[in-house]
Order: sequence, then structure tokens, then C-alpha cells
Amino acid sequence: MNVNRDGDVELALKVQCALGESPVWDARTSELVWVDIRGERVYWWVPGSPSIRELHIGHTVSAVAPRRLGGYVIAVRSGFGVLDGEGTVELIAGVETDLLQNRMNDGKCDPAGRFWAGTMSETDDPGAGSLYRLNLDQSVTKVISGVTVSNGLGWSPDATVMYYVDSLAHGLDAFDFSVDSGEATTRRRIAEIPEELGLPDGIAVDDQGYIWVALYSGGALHRYSPEGELESRIAVPVALVTSCAFGGPDYHDLYITTAVDPERDEPLAGSIFRYRAPVGGRAAAFFES
Ligand code: CA
Repeated sequence: MNVNRDGDVELALKVQCALGESPVWDARTSELVWVDIRGERVYWWVPGSPSIRELHIGHTVSAVAPRRLGGYVIAVRSGFGVLDGEGTVELIAGVETDLLQNRMNDGKCDPAGRFWAGTMSETDDPGAGSLYRLNLDQSVTKVISGVTVSNGLGWSPDATVMYYVDSLAHGLDAFDFSVDSGEATTRRRIAEIPEELGLPDGIAVDDQGYIWVALYSGGALHRYSPEGELESRIAVPVALVTSCAFGGPDYHDLYITTAVDPERDEPLAGSIFRYRAPVGGRAAAFFES
């Protein structure tokens, strides 16, 4: 297994997101976009620029992805919405609006431009969450139930495999994926992640098809082969590492979001970190509806 050298992971932007999440590179503007779930905000930042833009949504926003028609698709507390260029949020489909303990969590677009996001109970009730797919006609399909904390999503470069994390299941799962229908079938566990190494959270797939997994409470990222072999471990100087996404001019910059743990004295918690990766990633898929 490869281990990174000190200094390989650099502070990209000092910011104090309570729960930074869902980083995504917006190729239209060369901006990193992410959310602060507890801060109820969406952020935009052009790396290298001193100014960041933030939008206070006023309620939970847990994931964001660029939309082909302009603006963004987002997951909000109780459903899917779109965010236009003026900062207006329009709810397009409710999810679990009768389950008051539940909220939406991580989300991402598949290679055909559907947007996926799952739910979790804020009291970590086992199996109370589900994974949903927002289809191109804006209907919603429940794909998996019995999830505890729905988190990272990613697709293989050839779009035949979907990767998924239910954090409290302590591992990385794979499905056969049909890009035409959006169906995900034949779930299997490809990597177990022992609890003492942290909880698996957001993920990113590189262009070699390896999967980078953020370790919440683990202060690191793990890179797994498609067969589930642990290939690299990258230390991050904050314990609560939440997610990662490739970006930058050549998609070799792995941007890493983090969160604040009030019990730890970590001045950089909540900031954005960057790892100059030996492999690249790909542009994020747009929401195509
Ligand atoms: Ca997460």
C-alpha cells in the first residue's frame, strides 16, 4: 500500500464549514462548488482566487451538482430541488416528507444525468433511510431501502458499475449499473472498512476506475481498486474528512471537504484541502433534466 508524504495534502482554502460536503467541480466556470449541510449554505470558489461566494439556503442542503439547463440540482432536507443563477430554490420532488426524523444526505449525477441522493435519520435509526434516483422526467424512484446513513456515490469510467456507501455499514459496495435504464442490481461488498479507521463517507472515482473514499473521523482518504484492494492511504490534517472530488485544469487536483468536531481543537477543520493526485478524474456529470 502507498502512503502519502507529509505536505502532499495542502490547505486549499481556509473556511469553517460546520459540515462541508458534496464537492463538485463546475467545468462551466472552473469553480469548486460544495455545501455546508449544517450551515445551510452552498459555496463557490475559483481556486487561486481570494473571494468565495456563498448562498444561505435557509434550510438543510446536503448535495449539489451542475445542471445542463443552468444552475444546479440540489438535495434539500425533504427532497430534490433546483437552484437557479439568481439563487432561487425550487423544490421539484418531495422525499420522505412524512418522516420528520429523516433528512436527505449525499448525492451525485450518474453518467446519463440522473441525480441520485439518499436519506438518513438524524438519530441514526438503523435502516431508516433509503437511496433515491431523480429521473430525467423528474419522477423519483426509491432504489434501495434499509439504509442507515446514505452517503457516497460514484460510477466506473465505463458506467457499468455503481459504487455506494452506507456509512454505518462500514464498507464500500458495488452494483451492476445500466446507464440506459438507471437500474442498479446485484449489490456486493467490495471492501470492509474497520470502524477504528473511520466511517466511509463521500467517494470519487478516478479515471483508472479506482475509488477514493473519505474517512469521517479517520483523518484520511483510502484509494481502493475496483476489486476492493486498498491501494493508497492519504492522510488529511483534520479528523472529519467528508468527501472528495477531482477538479482543476487537468482534473488531477483532488479537492477534499471536512467538518468541524466541537470536541477537537482543530483550527483548520471545515476547510477545503487539495491533494495533487498521480491520477486524474473526470468532469462531473451534469443533471440532464
Ligand atoms: Ca456525507
